[in-house]
Amino acid sequence: MKIVVLGASHGGFETVEELLATYDDLEIKWFEKNDLAAVIGWDKETTIHKIKELEDRQVEIFNKTEVIKVNAKEHKVEAVDRNGNKISESYDKLILSPGAKPNMLPVSGNDLKNIQTLGGREDMDMIREKAQDPTIENVVVVGAGYIGVGAVQILGMAHKNITLIDVSELPLSTYLDSEFTHKIMSEFVDKGVHLAMHNFVQNFVGNDQNEVTSVVTDKAEYPADLVVVAAGSHPNTEWLNGVVDMTERGLIKTDKYLHTSNPDIFAIGDVTEVFYNPGQNDMNISLASNARLQASYVVRNLKDDCYSINGVQGTSAWMAFDYKFAATGLNETTAKRLDVAIDSAFIEVDVPRDHTQISHILFKVVFDPKTRAILGAQIMSKDNLNDNINAISIAIQAKLTIDQLAYGDFFFEPGLKSQRSIFNLVGLKAIEKGTSN
Ligand SMILES: Cc1cc2nc3c(=O)[nH]c(=O)nc-3n(C[C@H](O)[C@H](O)[C@H](O)COP(=O)(O)OP(=O)(O)OC[C@H]3O[C@@H](n4cnc5c(N)ncnc54)[C@H](O)[C@@H]3O)c2cc1C
Repeated sequence: MKIVVLGASHGGFETVEELLATYDDLEIKWFEKNDLAAVIGWDKETTIHKIKELEDRQVEIFNKTEVIKVNAKEHKVEAVDRNGNKISESYDKLILSPGAKPNMLPVSGNDLKNIQTLGGREDMDMIREKAQDPTIENVVVVGAGYIGVGAVQILGMAHKNITLIDVSELPLSTYLDSEFTHKIMSEFVDKGVHLAMHNFVQNFVGNDQNEVTSVVTDKAEYPADLVVVAAGSHPNTEWLNGVVDMTERGLIKTDKYLHTSNPDIFAIGDVTEVFYNPGQNDMNISLASNARLQASYVVRNLKDDCYSINGVQGTSAWMAFDYKFAATGLNETTAKRLDVAIDSAFIEVDVPRDHTQISHILFKVVFDPKTRAILGAQIMSKDNLNDNINAISIAIQAKLTIDQLAYGDFFFEPGLKSQRSIFNLVGLKAIEKGTSN
């Protein structure tokens, strides 16, 4: 069977790895329009070794080669490499993971030099390089979501003078509730980051050399030698119009086995929607973990429709300077957006980490006030306790209640002060809240 895989990032990479681990009768053609090794993050030595291994397993790599057309009727893709050479390959099954492109703000001056969007590993590496550039002093980051905050982190460590702009009132507001984001705001201020929340960018200003010099918002003008725009993304699918069915936003529609409207074409990753268990709805959640999970299902469903994909909780983890945090499922912002009634319980506790150290932890659980089913959670600490969120993710998937959480069985180590885990504690607080309503 001949398989064409498009894309070498999380979705495409996981697909090829799992195809090779699962089948030994495939001929695989793997297309990546950028440099495959850079996309995956292989160093020189690993690249040589991996390419040889892939070739030995009948994987032909079309590096720096863009697929420009899918002829679904003839089961063929057409591609063009960086030298303009045209390539045509047939397939029995085509697996698409073309990802998303970062949005640029549609304002004047957006074509000035030193305005950079963040779309993946290579862009992040570029930010790391710029962080070491002594000619760059003032940096404006537009967008206070995970990606913008990631850029602030890198540039802040390099002691740049940073302004973080967002239209919302609080940074990270789609991931964390205000109990957490207020602390993160203080952390930013302590680390010298200037917060320009509730600011709308109007335009970028440049000098004679066409280099950006400032960002103008409805509230102020901020000096900038570098602007990082992290204002969402859009699916990389315009070129697939008419080939597979898509939503209005250009997301590829898939069924529960991840077939597109054409049964021989699968789609995964940032160009698709996933079933979101906490909201019981389909939505686009751009996470590597989702792309990789979908890849596993495509591989298992390659020859027959055997496994319908489980929903996800959108579980993610990140950091803002000293704080490490993780979230899963609904929070107050996303519940409101999806019109889901929720209640919540929040604890801020000191818990012994070992015999000498104590972790200060913020933990919140979100639940359905009627059924008491757990619908979401957030955790934050200066110690890395993010792994705990995975337990809540599974609890949501298994439809566990706050009562089961409160009286769940969690290990206790002798010598430590508290006999109750943070799960018991937040569950008990939730019961208290749930009973008093
Ligand atoms: C800065 C940053 C940090 C992130 N951190 C995390 C994290 O910590 N955890 C997490 O879960 N998620 C994270 N994400 C999100 C995660 O990176 C994406 O969800 C994931 O990369 C999606 O994988 P994908 O395969 O769908 O698409 P992409 O990663 O976008 O890859 C698509 C690939 O397809 C190639 N391609 C596109 N069109 C064509 C074509 N026509 N022909 C050939 N090749 C083509 C592209 O060059 C690209 O390499 C982060 C994202 C960013 C931007």
